[in-house]
Amino acid sequence: MDIKGNIKEFENLLKDTGVTLVAVSKTKPVKDILEAYDAGQLDFGENKIQELRDKYPVMPKDIRWHMIGHLQSNKVKYIAPWIHLIHAVDSLKLLNEINKQATKNKRIIPCLLQVHIAEEETKFGFSEDELITLLDSEQLTGFKNIEIAGLMGMATNTPDQEQIHKEFQLLKALFDRIAKNYDLPNVKMKELSTGMSSDYTIAIEEGSTMIRVGSKIFGQRVYH
Ligand SMILES: *Cc1c(COP(=O)(O)O)cnc(C)c1O
Repeated sequence: MDIKGNIKEFENLLKDTGVTLVAVSKTKPVKDILEAYDAGQLDFGENKIQELRDKYPVMPKDIRWHMIGHLQSNKVKYIAPWIHLIHAVDSLKLLNEINKQATKNKRIIPCLLQVHIAEEETKFGFSEDELITLLDSEQLTGFKNIEIAGLMGMATNTPDQEQIHKEFQLLKALFDRIAKNYDLPNVKMKELSTGMSSDYTIAIEEGSTMIRVGSKIFGQRVYH
């Protein structure tokens, strides 16, 4: 893979769009990450705490690390001092723990709430109803060391482009509705994290502000 070339290509594609590229480096070695970094890439996404803990100390300190995977409450403490953005927050329990660890570290941790938009049952996330109930409950205002910076979603893994458009549209509508109707001190709808290697062009058309791209930059992943 021409990692540098791929980063440059995305840089060109995203220029003047306001869309941020999160380079998803999970399973990839440090040398691949450094190659992307040398091409100017600063935002990297990982989905496993252990991998983040291994990579963070040996990488340049201006890298912005994104936790994009499902996060267990008991592991928040390991990344709380330095994580840039947690994308897949999907429970009150997790919010509570992130707030606690953020407070301990005297910082505010930006989070995205994950919304379940795909057909597949296996994907994590709040339903639209659950999310609205959570916002109405005003429980979020108690989390003083969390900033809800937007929403995250994953579309169904399908060749049906229309369906992917529809799912991203639903999420964008929800994003706009929350931005318009909720005036909570720690809720700011700034980022809509949608789109991966297979569907980022659709995601951008449908209002994504942050795409999470792995294999299109680093090549296919090999799991051992
Ligand atoms: C792995 C992963 C990605 C990137 O997937 P690619 O298809 O390799 O681009 C994006 N988002 C999440 C949540 C992931 O786990």
